[in-house]
Amino acid sequence: MAYKITDECISCGVCAMECKNEAISEGEETYVIDPDKCTECVGNFESPRCAEVCPVDAPVLDPEHVESRDELLAKWHRLHPGATSVSA
Ligand code: SF4
Repeated sequence: MAYKITDECISCGVCAMECKNEAISEGEETYVIDPDKCTECVGNFESPRCAEVCPVDAPVLDPEHVESRDELLAKWHRLHPGATSVSA
């Protein structure tokens, strides 16, 4: 399940700097997460970094993008061909 950023976002940009999938960018009113690139940090970290670093808890799981861990890992491999994930 990809994460999404709620209206609580104050556009500090901290999450975008932490995202190794480059899934987070500045939108018109808040930062936004590209669900095609978000793996819930599967492959990169043991837990979702954006949710951990956000000062206002704006990143939340997006129920409109439900995916299994295997699907998230497959997405990670598509984004990082040839790389070794932290959670293979
Ligand atoms: Fe918005 Fe939180 Fe990301 Fe800052 S860390 S840009 S407040 S979602």
